[in-house]
Amino acid sequence: MALIVQKYGGTSVANTERIMSVAERVVSTAKQGNQVVVVVSAMAGETDKLIKFAHEIMEMPDEREMDLLLSSGERVTSALMAIAVQKLGCKSMSFTGRQVGIITDSSHTKAMIEHIEAGRLRLALDEGKIPVVAGFQGIDEFSDVTTLGRGGSDTTAVAIAAALKADLCEIYTDVEGVYTTDPRIVKDARKLEKITYEEMLEMASLGAKVLHGRSVEFAKKYNVPLVVRSSFNDAPGTLVIKEDQYMEKIVVSGVAADKNQVRITIMGVPDNPGIAARIFNQIAGANIVVDMIVQNISSDTKATDMSFTVSRADSKKAFEIAKEVSDKLEAKGVNMNTDVAKVSIVGVGMVSHFGVAAKMFETLAREGINIMMISTSEIKVSCVIDAKYTELAVRVLHDVFNLANS
Ligand code: ADP
Ligand code: ASP
Ligand code: MG
Repeated sequence: MALIVQKYGGTSVANTERIMSVAERVVSTAKQGNQVVVVVSAMAGETDKLIKFAHEIMEMPDEREMDLLLSSGERVTSALMAIAVQKLGCKSMSFTGRQVGIITDSSHTKAMIEHIEAGRLRLALDEGKIPVVAGFQGIDEFSDVTTLGRGGSDTTAVAIAAALKADLCEIYTDVEGVYTTDPRIVKDARKLEKITYEEMLEMASLGAKVLHGRSVEFAKKYNVPLVVRSSFNDAPGTLVIKEDQYMEKIVVSGVAADKNQVRITIMGVPDNPGIAARIFNQIAGANIVVDMIVQNISSDTKATDMSFTVSRADSKKAFEIAKEVSDKLEAKGVNMNTDVAKVSIVGVGMVSHFGVAAKMFETLAREGINIMMISTSEIKVSCVIDAKYTELAVRVLHDVFNLANS
């Protein structure tokens, strides 16, 4: 008997008809002799709707309150799913994050799972029940509800699979697996049969929202066998696994885009030791993750421009902090560009090939796309560009690295 964790995303549980159809898949997996734990997202659009309500009342609502609000979407679907499974004649029980003991830190709206007390889930399984867990949420040491960041139900599923030492974690979504790039942007994007944890981690953190970045970190750390597949058909999906020899040969395996970033520039910062530490310590102190940083040497040798990117959700907070720091440092001021996007190429084989980054820059240049910031690692190259060129950049890069056919 295998233990399988199945996670169903928003589109897969968008209405009661879809919930019944998912329940049939769950029951059929159980009837094949497996133990099944189900993790569900909120119905498609529900989380956005809740955020919109809060913003109608206040521009920067309190994050603790946001977490209680947002966690309600997943609670609705977990209860409806348990009812649907029961209707099909199987025992089932729904659980909130708190009820299954998903313990997180206290960083509201982007909490990290610290551990899972899986006793209650094990008990339900031993009693022959199909547990249905509300994804995306946990509780902190003060018993306050937390959420794991947008797309976080994937992480709930993988963390539960790791805690229960499940044989498999299946992520059911609205595409047939992980593709060379977003199949909604590039029609001839190719479905990958397998992808390494490392590449998937990069793709996810660079904007391929098919998997939540932290879910891949968990899968890699605890060696959870992970499959991404469609809840709309029986196609086999994509396996996320450890690197193997065949994979090392692939130079570029995917293109990702992220429109969820903004660029903030502090102008005319004094060019002295310790200034960068001062700026970024303040930002880190507000629980904001900075992605790219570029320091421009200006013609005036005593001052420099410092640009960095943060996620859109953190932009207002980061901008306020940048303004405070700018005033204190007597810098020339701060500006924020919200119309930027980050496009990236990813591949484990890049480390042993020359000219990959140059080819990316040339390709963007040929289309007249200006590169505002660059960052590289052994397995990725990212460029920040004007958001209006995102789709074009993804298409030409997918093309020039021959991803449709490789
Ligand atoms: P769910 O609600 O099931 O969690 P998401 O919307 O979070 O689904 O993620 C699935 C979406 O991810 C797809 O509809 C697709 O548009 C997008 N996506 C972006 N990059 C990729 C990629 N490389 N492969 C597959 N899907 C991708
Ligand atoms: N409902 C949450 C979101 O929309 C979490 C998830 O779907 O994974 O971000
Ligand atoms: Mg998702």
